[in-house]
Amino acid sequence: MAPTIARVAVPVPVPSLFDYRVPFDRPVTPGCRVRVPFGRGHRTAVVVELADATRCPDERLKDIAEVLDEAALLGLDDLAFLVWAAAYYHHPVGEVIATALPLRLRRGRAAEPPGEPGWRLTDSGAAAWRNPPTRAPRRQAILAALADAGGALGRRVVAERFPTGGDALRVMRRAGWILDCRMPALPDPLDTGMPPGPVPNPGQLDAIASIRGLMSGFGVALLDGVTGSGKTEVYLHLAQTALAKGRGVMVLVPEISLTPQLERRFRARLGETVRVLHSGLGDSERESAWHRLRLGLSRVLLGTRSSVFTPVADLGLVIVDEEHDGSYKQGEGFRYSARDLAIVRGKRAGCAVVLGSATPSLESLRHALDGRYVHVRLDRRAGTAQPPRVGLLDLRDQPVYGGIAQPMLDRIAATLAADEQAIVFLNRRGYAPVLCCYACGWLSDCPHCDARQTVHRHNSVLWCHHCGRLQRLPQKCPQCGAGELNPLGQGTEQVEDVLAARFPDWPLIRIDRDSTARKGSLEDKLAQIRDATGALLVGTQMLAKGHHFPRVTLVGVLDADGGLFSADFRAAERMAQLLEQVGGRAGRAERPGQVLIQTRYPDHPLLQTLVRQGYRAFAREALREREAAALPPFAHQALLRAEGSDPDAPAGLLEAVAAGLRGTADGVDVWGPVPAPMPRRAGRYRVHLLLQAARRESLHRALRPLPGWIAGLPQARRVRWSLDVDPVDLF
Ligand code: ADP
Ligand code: ZN
Ligand code: ZN
Repeated sequence: MAPTIARVAVPVPVPSLFDYRVPFDRPVTPGCRVRVPFGRGHRTAVVVELADATRCPDERLKDIAEVLDEAALLGLDDLAFLVWAAAYYHHPVGEVIATALPLRLRRGRAAEPPGEPGWRLTDSGAAAWRNPPTRAPRRQAILAALADAGGALGRRVVAERFPTGGDALRVMRRAGWILDCRMPALPDPLDTGMPPGPVPNPGQLDAIASIRGLMSGFGVALLDGVTGSGKTEVYLHLAQTALAKGRGVMVLVPEISLTPQLERRFRARLGETVRVLHSGLGDSERESAWHRLRLGLSRVLLGTRSSVFTPVADLGLVIVDEEHDGSYKQGEGFRYSARDLAIVRGKRAGCAVVLGSATPSLESLRHALDGRYVHVRLDRRAGTAQPPRVGLLDLRDQPVYGGIAQPMLDRIAATLAADEQAIVFLNRRGYAPVLCCYACGWLSDCPHCDARQTVHRHNSVLWCHHCGRLQRLPQKCPQCGAGELNPLGQGTEQVEDVLAARFPDWPLIRIDRDSTARKGSLEDKLAQIRDATGALLVGTQMLAKGHHFPRVTLVGVLDADGGLFSADFRAAERMAQLLEQVGGRAGRAERPGQVLIQTRYPDHPLLQTLVRQGYRAFAREALREREAAALPPFAHQALLRAEGSDPDAPAGLLEAVAAGLRGTADGVDVWGPVPAPMPRRAGRYRVHLLLQAARRESLHRALRPLPGWIAGLPQARRVRWSLDVDPVDLF
């Protein structure tokens, strides 16, 4: 007997699956979408498993309203992976599974699998063709064409050959002689004639060989290679190996839109079979790529964070480029780490996972040093490029103009005079972070956040980067009416102004979120940089990531002090990574590069280690400190966040949770509740409760009952809360 019950993942904030009766005339398979009655309406959901029995009482059991897919969209293994991820992050399984589907499919639209629409001859159509029941020459001709083509033809072909056949087609369709169908889609050619890249150097050859050694089963390699050491070349060779074995490849990158040249490079080497998935694509485009990868028609996925859920067929290799990058962690809702899930996918698929970075996260580095990951190092830049020289520039007792010290200006002048390019890096957009009245002390506080509104000159606004509040730039002090207001500190807009005044004869290109908001403007600016000789580039971390600017020989970092004294234990790691990455843009071709870091604390041990010995030495030292302090990666954390418009309710909820956990959660330390680092944002009061355990299992044992229990607490009623497993940002 066919199973009568379907366990269905409905995208609602409830942790469990829901049981529905399978209509006897419409069988379903796991991985199909269905429409089910839910609450007062209907929902698009995914069948996860079938069963013969349910604990749901008969009178409450409902029927599946509609089966949306004939064939499964997600395989059993994909479903098992998603169910696992939901359990690990303690997030509702229905929402997790919905994340894995392209938007159109999530909304219940008909799947558009690849292959163009066509007409197929039915048995009765074939019979009609052989014994014509009527004398209708056009129908007869179309039937003959279909039969000649083996039973089916694309609609476009039919329309071309029978431009006036519309009526005949309609009649025959109604008679059941022909059916709508999809023509089989062709796999992308696996190009063998692509031009080869540079001949790998000995270091790259070793790296390729040792990772290939892993590719017969599951294994993780940390490809720890300095900036410009040729990691991407290694990825390309490994991808070719997987393709030659007929397997699929998943390549995750932090932000594709930032590095259009990466996509070009992959396509130039691996051909048409490379498909990109990122937020800039249209929904249909994205769905089409998704189906092609799922069906194995396209073999290489190049995508951002959420691509980790794409059901790439026959996965044979997973690559996570810049694995340390913060963008792999989803910051809201389902707070997964794509890097960590990539490893789980590799494990389930039994394939190699490559984590690449010039600045590995301390998590990955620890596993590499412990021998759990194979540690593959590329210590030298590929080709002829030399590592940049790094120096500190003491900001104290210096003439400083708009945040730029005189010696920095001198270095910039010398760089431009040599027809080379300089990057001036400041990780703060806008004109200035605060506006201030000297007469009364008024500051541009955001009324809704514990934060300042940033001055943006070009469109004359004060803008809160935390809640999005916008207001016109005041002309006089809102508090005392004084006529003069003063921007304090610098953002990239101001740096651009200062440099434009100093170096009016050189191209000056600013790259940050504001200057590249218009579609295509980043591409334009990158092209400008490529085409220019001497030029000045000003920007935020958008400029630090992945770019290859061969003419840049100077990188000036205007403010390195922000990360030195933060309350977040990861701030130093993040700052070291950013400095190394931005410094890595210098001297990537023949001409040697220089990195100059402005600071008020030139003796700070962190800066000293970074400058004298580099990121690796810093990372090893930081790991020792983390171990001594029993912090991640030597402990496991989960952060419970609560916020609400009532000032006391969030803390009230977390106090109840803390009290409940303190007696019961063995091996778990409960810290807090404490106000969040920004205690109020967008008018909501925010409180944190941090859980930490030496063993992952203890933590997860404590977390498992938590969501259900919290949801039932009376204190939870007016509070929005969320659970963040393995948080990377304690903000
Ligand atoms: P990474 O990914 O480590 O930053 P890339 O793979 O982008 O490094 O390589 C940096 C630069 O060096 C690129 O311009 C690349 O074409 C070049 N390159 C890489 N490998 C070689 C090699 N073996 N010989 C010559 N040039 C190389
Ligand atoms: Zn004032
Ligand atoms: Zn605000």
